[in-house]
Amino acid sequence: MRLRNVPGARDVMEESGFVFTEPAGMSGTWNEVFGNDNPIYIEVGMGKGQFITTLAEQNPDINYVGIEKYSSVLLRAVEKQNEKQLPNLKFIRMDAENIKDVFGEHEVGRIYLNFSDPWPKDRHAKRRLTSRQFFDRYDYILAPDGEVQFKTDNVDLFDWSLEEIGETKWRLTAQTHDLHNDAVLNEGNVMTEYEEKFSSMGNPICKLIAVRQT
Ligand code: SAM
Repeated sequence: MRLRNVPGARDVMEESGFVFTEPAGMSGTWNEVFGNDNPIYIEVGMGKGQFITTLAEQNPDINYVGIEKYSSVLLRAVEKQNEKQLPNLKFIRMDAENIKDVFGEHEVGRIYLNFSDPWPKDRHAKRRLTSRQFFDRYDYILAPDGEVQFKTDNVDLFDWSLEEIGETKWRLTAQTHDLHNDAVLNEGNVMTEYEEKFSSMGNPICKLIAVRQT
């Protein structure tokens, strides 16, 4: 999802007060940023922000940080947050490859990955947000009892991710290839923009939850 050349997008971010565009060095400061000791949950590749904004509204005692690579996409989330002014929601414009510069060891309680880009070519596999290289980064920033939750309608990417997790020190605690018909996992499910689009086309939604091996 890349919307090109949105005039003024950068100015809107900078004026908003809740978007960080130069986040390197913020590692270890997030509870100060929010002004409380509540857990920090992040979504990597948040797109237009429907999912994380809804979660932030539903859970005022959790701090949410949405990460998105492109200003032009993030702008939609910023416009929503400009109206809502939720105190527990911030955004970062960055490439998640550098996530270890931005969050400290064990600083994050949960990581959401929703409809992540598939990067279909083998030579780009390490760019997938569920690659072992990304799980190594998550291993550093996640709290010991933290978890990664991943949703997609892309069965190839999902099955690859299951295999990839099998090659890491992570363990699956839940998985389904049909989230919306799984009464347990679907309870309280908050839909993303892509989830609404693809499920309305009849695509089943896959979900996994992974924690570290104990
Ligand atoms: N999560 C949203 C949803 O489910 O509706 C958006 C899904 S969209 C397919 C994937 C988003 O992830 C895009 O907006 C893309 O720019 C962003 N993205 C992909 N790789 C990223 C990375 N390495 N760092 C930050 N954002 C990334």
